[in-house]
Amino acid sequence: MTTGNINVSVENIFPLIKKFLYSDHEIFLRELISNATDATLKLKHLTNIGEASVEYGNPLVEVKIDKEGKKLHIIDQGIGMTAEEVKKYINEVAFSGAEEFLDKYKDKVEDAGIIGHFGLGFYSAFMVANKVEIITKSYKDEPAAHWTCDGSPEYTLETSDKTDRGTEIILHIADDETEFLEESRIRELLIKYNKFMPIPIKFGTREETLPLPEDAPEDAEAETLTVDNIINNPNPAWTKQPADLNEEDYRKFYRELYPMQFEEPLFNIHLNVDYPFNLTGILYFPKLTNDLNMQRDKIQLYQNQVFVTDNVEGIVPEFLTMLRGVIDSPDIPLNVSRSYLQADGAVKKISSYITRKVADKLNSLFKNDRKDFEAKWNDIKIVIEYGMLSEEKFFEKAEKFTLYPTVDDAYLTFEELQEKIKDTQTDKDEKLVILYASNKDEQHAYIDAAKAKGYEVLLLDSPIVSHLIQKLETSKENISFARVDADHIDNLIKKDEEQISKLSDEETAKLKTILEETIPQDKFTVQLEAMSSDASPFMITQPEFMRRMKEMQQT
Ligand code: ADP
Ligand code: MG
Repeated sequence: MTTGNINVSVENIFPLIKKFLYSDHEIFLRELISNATDATLKLKHLTNIGEASVEYGNPLVEVKIDKEGKKLHIIDQGIGMTAEEVKKYINEVAFSGAEEFLDKYKDKVEDAGIIGHFGLGFYSAFMVANKVEIITKSYKDEPAAHWTCDGSPEYTLETSDKTDRGTEIILHIADDETEFLEESRIRELLIKYNKFMPIPIKFGTREETLPLPEDAPEDAEAETLTVDNIINNPNPAWTKQPADLNEEDYRKFYRELYPMQFEEPLFNIHLNVDYPFNLTGILYFPKLTNDLNMQRDKIQLYQNQVFVTDNVEGIVPEFLTMLRGVIDSPDIPLNVSRSYLQADGAVKKISSYITRKVADKLNSLFKNDRKDFEAKWNDIKIVIEYGMLSEEKFFEKAEKFTLYPTVDDAYLTFEELQEKIKDTQTDKDEKLVILYASNKDEQHAYIDAAKAKGYEVLLLDSPIVSHLIQKLETSKENISFARVDADHIDNLIKKDEEQISKLSDEETAKLKTILEETIPQDKFTVQLEAMSSDASPFMITQPEFMRRMKEMQQT
């Protein structure tokens, strides 16, 4: 048996680790399972290239709770370590890694901008355990090793009689961390972090009833087997090639990702790029209502099939955070603050790649099946409109597929709209005037009046519409928008028809005086001559710019 001193300048590193990562103790399990998975994948690689002459088989990673012994076991059948390797990888490398971590983040940990996942690796075990054992046997023909450390810089290393290949990590769970001895808590963590890891993870067993054969007699009893309870899907859809997946596969994966989400997604976008950065993933467009607060299920970020976070702010452009799905990229630096992330070149490229893919997908949906695209428009428009406002690149691309619904349920592109109204809806300066309503019921009288004059009226009812209109007016030449109840409608549009009022001149004058006394003049204009319908003898209008300014301040 050897004893030794771990070479580290911080007298006792573990209380520090514990303090700094306080809110995130649970990640120890993700780290240890990642190591077990890495060790297994390394063995797979070595047997593939003929470096290791051992049977690879069907290795598992197993998580076991020993509630009475207050221990948690993580067991793998991977590459293992010799005693020398334990000294090298566990004592030296990892400790220096932890030390480096502390040096680097000592001052910053209080900064709430730092992502809570540091990937501290093996030593994160000490956040929940007051003693950790490693029992490991290398694939090489060498005796097994048994390492023990209680969190002080001292460790013991002796030989062990373990005969099967692989590593067992034993955590002696600290008294204030006993939640990690609860089956439900461990299951919750496994599902959160490890649901799509590449090596099967066993957590207990379950009963499986075999289906009876077709010709079984009526009184035949179904056979039940006890099988390993595997908590993960090692081959999630996003790791496959788009050509190998059909629509049902994508829908199935959506249900795997969001088991509590019963609404089907509208369509998906498969991301797959390996240069100049590595990124895979599948994004889904969900049905979105105008109520953005409803957003509960989020895009999940993975690194090599390990869940990292569902806060993708700074990585995915903000308007696309309303989507769902996964992105998996080893190239996103995580040990940094969000503001640093946004300035990072690789991350910027990732963000614009995602924007481009989404725009391309929308464009192809529009081109390939316009009817279907129109049917989905109201469910996706909020994302598109938001994107047009916030990302100039997206605005340019969206030109091709953005639709402008009319009050009569026609869906026009901007070009089609322009064509339709160019002879009828211009003002005295030859500017094209686009009329719109924001609420069909409230504005029905105005809509009817405009339609009676042969004008096209759009229905623009999303919460950010006044911003969008402003944006369109400034980026397109010679157009302006006016809501149907805006005061200047009649000045803008050609006055080639005769206005028929049901009121006499005298009545009109009287009514006007009364109304003007009751209606705030700085906000509304009274128009009495404009309408000919019985239901609405006169109109009260509000200057377009005034209402719009108010709306823009509110949204
Ligand atoms: P990292 O995984 O980033 O290298 P860790 O602190 O998690 O850092 O692990 C340090 C090293 O210890 C690993 O690189 C690996 O060589 C070794 N190691 C840890 N766990 C295992 C295991 N289950 N099987 C084999 N080697 C392991
Ligand atoms: Mg690790």
